[in-house]
Amino acid sequence: MAADVSWIRAEPHGIHIAPADCWIDPSRPVARALVTHGHADHARGGHGETIATPATLAIMELRYQTREGAVPIEYGETIRLGGGVEATCIPAGHVLGSAQILLEHAGERVVITGDYKRRPDPTCPPFEVTPCDVFITEATFGLPVFCHPPVGQEIAKLLKALRDHPGRCVLVGAYALGKAQRLIAELRAAGHGEPIYLHGAMERMCRLYEDFGVNLGELRLVSDHSKDDLRGAIVVCPPSALNDRWSRRLPEPITAMASGWMRVRQRARQQNVELPLIVSDHADWGELTRTIEEVNPAETWITHGREEALLRWCQLHQRRARALALVGYEDEDD
Ligand SMILES: [Zn+2]
Ligand SMILES: [Zn+2]
Repeated sequence: MAADVSWIRAEPHGIHIAPADCWIDPSRPVARALVTHGHADHARGGHGETIATPATLAIMELRYQTREGAVPIEYGETIRLGGGVEATCIPAGHVLGSAQILLEHAGERVVITGDYKRRPDPTCPPFEVTPCDVFITEATFGLPVFCHPPVGQEIAKLLKALRDHPGRCVLVGAYALGKAQRLIAELRAAGHGEPIYLHGAMERMCRLYEDFGVNLGELRLVSDHSKDDLRGAIVVCPPSALNDRWSRRLPEPITAMASGWMRVRQRARQQNVELPLIVSDHADWGELTRTIEEVNPAETWITHGREEALLRWCQLHQRRARALALVGYEDEDD
């Protein structure tokens, strides 16, 4: 059975809920937006009203220096948007505060995942499978070649490199929102109790995570320490700092990068990464297809990423699906 859902529309710059005149993750400023999570391609500044989880609103405040129009909604909370539409936030397991949005109108249910993953993440609650008529899924790693290894295996590689080179440091490039904190939390879970050193650009987001109850252990700023202090230590920086003059202050850094794209050798080479760590905050191919099976919607809509292969998979499995041509959603995050 096909879902009707004429009340929700995919426009190039976002998903529009017509009866409530509200947008999901719009890529340009609007009067009213529901925001799934804090990554810059989803959370733009300048909306009249922004409805999001408290953590997402705090991340946006940190980035845009304003709380104007912020409307908090907790996980599991349902709000009336007007026009007979209700919205509920559900954990997406992507980064701190990340939510799927369940929309209900006239007996129809639509779930928009935003970005998500199914692997456990010590920094946020896990993705919850939510039955619906229309399931709108991301497809960042929507190709069968993308099969993320267990995160413990990648953390073990990092710790081995550290042990094998006690006079050097391991410099890990990681996105400032989500990846950096997850990496640190996974290192702590693996028993790494030493102080971890941060590039100055990571500090405030790490403190925000701690304010929301995520324990990251002892963090120090690289700028407060000498080259010798950093021997045998892990240093975390934004990917852009990996090949930057900044890294010259470090003791013979072993250059690592934590990203789902490290599966692609060429990407690692382009960024001069010696130690690629395949750690992703997005669902891989297996997670994407399993999630569609578990949610089992009447129809699947596929957004930003590699839509074609997932569309083909749906067709092969007798599932109604379409690709949405949204623009402006590219990986700050991976
Ligand atoms: Zn994201
Ligand atoms: Zn995204």
